Amino acid sequence: MKIRLKLTLLFAGLFAALLLTFSLVIYFSNAGQREEEYFKRLRQLAITKANLLLAAKVQPSVLQLIYKNSLNTLPQEEVAVYDTAFHLLYHDAGDIDKVKETKGMIDSIISLKEIHFYVEDLQATGFVYPFAGKTYVITAAAKDDYGLSKLKTLRLALVICFAIAILLTLLAGILFSRKALQPVSEMVEKVEEISASHLDLRIDRGNSKDEIAELAITFNSMLDRLENSFDAQKQFVSNISHELRTPLAAIIAELEISTLKARTTDEYKETIHLILQDTRRLSKLSNDLLDLAKASYDQSGINFKELRPDEVLLDARQLIIRSNPGYRVDILFAKEIEEGDLIAIKGNEYLLKVAFSNLIENACKFSANNQCAISIGFEEKSTVLRFSDSGIGIPANDVSHIFTPFYRGENKRYAPGNGIGLSLTQRIINLHHGTISVDSRVGTGTTFTIALFHA
Ligand code: ADP
Repeated sequence: MKIRLKLTLLFAGLFAALLLTFSLVIYFSNAGQREEEYFKRLRQLAITKANLLLAAKVQPSVLQLIYKNSLNTLPQEEVAVYDTAFHLLYHDAGDIDKVKETKGMIDSIISLKEIHFYVEDLQATGFVYPFAGKTYVITAAAKDDYGLSKLKTLRLALVICFAIAILLTLLAGILFSRKALQPVSEMVEKVEEISASHLDLRIDRGNSKDEIAELAITFNSMLDRLENSFDAQKQFVSNISHELRTPLAAIIAELEISTLKARTTDEYKETIHLILQDTRRLSKLSNDLLDLAKASYDQSGINFKELRPDEVLLDARQLIIRSNPGYRVDILFAKEIEEGDLIAIKGNEYLLKVAFSNLIENACKFSANNQCAISIGFEEKSTVLRFSDSGIGIPANDVSHIFTPFYRGENKRYAPGNGIGLSLTQRIINLHHGTISVDSRVGTGTTFTIALFHA
C-alpha cells in the first residue's frame, strides 16, 4: 500500500473515530434526557388525574369523558389508579388495556415505590401515591411520539453529517497527502533518471529545511561518493590496462624481432632474459592487484588471529633477501622482549608480510647501498616499526601522493615498480586499525613508521 493511501486512510480513520464518539455521546445523552423527561411528564399527568379523582371527587366516567375530549392528552395515554389491595379505582379507557397490571406488578410498585418500564413502544411508569392517609398505586403509559421523532431526526442528521464529514476528510486527505508527498514523487522520477552513465545528475533540494530536503541532501552526498568511487574505479581500470599493456607490448616486440631472422644462442638468451623480466613485472603486478583486492573489497573473508609482528617481520625480510640476494636488511630491537610483555597483535599474517616486504623492498631499491634498517619497539599499547633507508628520498611534493594507487614519484626512474606497493601497504595497515606515516628528505633518506596496536 502506498504511503499516500496509508496516510489518507489513517487520517480519515482517526477523524471518523473521533466524530463517531462525539455523535454517539450527543445521541445517547439526548435519548437519555428525553426518556427521563417523559417519565417525569407521565408522572405529572397521572398525579393530576389522581388528584381530580381523589381530591376533587370527579366521577371516573366524567374524568374519562374529560380526557377523551381533551386536546392536551399524550398519544395512547393510559392512566390507572389502584388501591393497595389491587382494586381498580380508575382506568382511562375501559376497552383498551395495554399495561395489563397484575397483583404482582402492584406489589412490586409498593415495595420499590416507583418503577419505569416499556410496553412495546409505550413508555410506562408505576408509583406509589399517598393521599389523605391512604396509599394508592398509579400506573401511567403513553408513547412519546414527539420526542422519538425528534430523536429520529437527530439520528438522521448525525448519520448524514458523519457520512459527509468522512467523505470530505477522505478528499482532503488525498489532496493533502498528494501535496505533502509531491516532492517524494518528483524525487522518485529524478532518481529513475540517474543511472551509472548519468551519475552527475542531482536531486532538487527544495526549500533545504524540511525532512524531504534532508533526504535529498543525503541522497546527493551519497551520489557524490558514488560518482567519486566510480571515477576512481574507472581510473584504476585504465591504470591497470596501461600497466599490463606496456610489458605485454614489450614481450610481443621482443618475440617479433627475434623471429625476423635466425639468431645466435646468446641473442636468444638475451631475448629470453628480457622477456623473463617483463613477465616477472606482470606477475608482480597481478599479485599486487590480487592483494589489493583482498585488502580492499573482501574484508569479511580475511582471517585475523593473534600473531607477533617481529616474527612476521623476520619472514618478510627472508622473503625479500631470497629474491634479492644483494639487499641488506638489518633488524634492531629497541629493547629486549621480556617475559610477560604483551606484544601480540590481531592481524592477518599474509597481508602484514606483504606490507612489510613492500616497505623493505622500497627502502632497498630506492637507495644506492640497497640497505634497509628496521627498528622495532614495543610500547605499552602498540608495536612501532620504523623502516629507514639512506637513499634518494622522496621529493616534498610527492609525499602526499605516494599512497595513491599507481602513483610513482619523480624518482621513479631510479627503480622499477608499478605504484601499487604503498597504497596496498596503507590499506593493509588501515585494515589492522594501525597507522602509517612517512618522513623523507631528498638525498638523505626515508623513514616509514608503522604502529600496530596490541590485541
Ligand atoms: P613503486 O615502488 O612500485 O613505485 P610504491 O607505491 O611502492 O610504488 O611507491 C610509490 C612511490 O613512492 C615510488 O614510486 C617512489 O617515488 C616513492 N617511494 C616509496 N618508498 C620510497 C623510498 N623508500 N625512498 C624513496 N622513494 C620512495
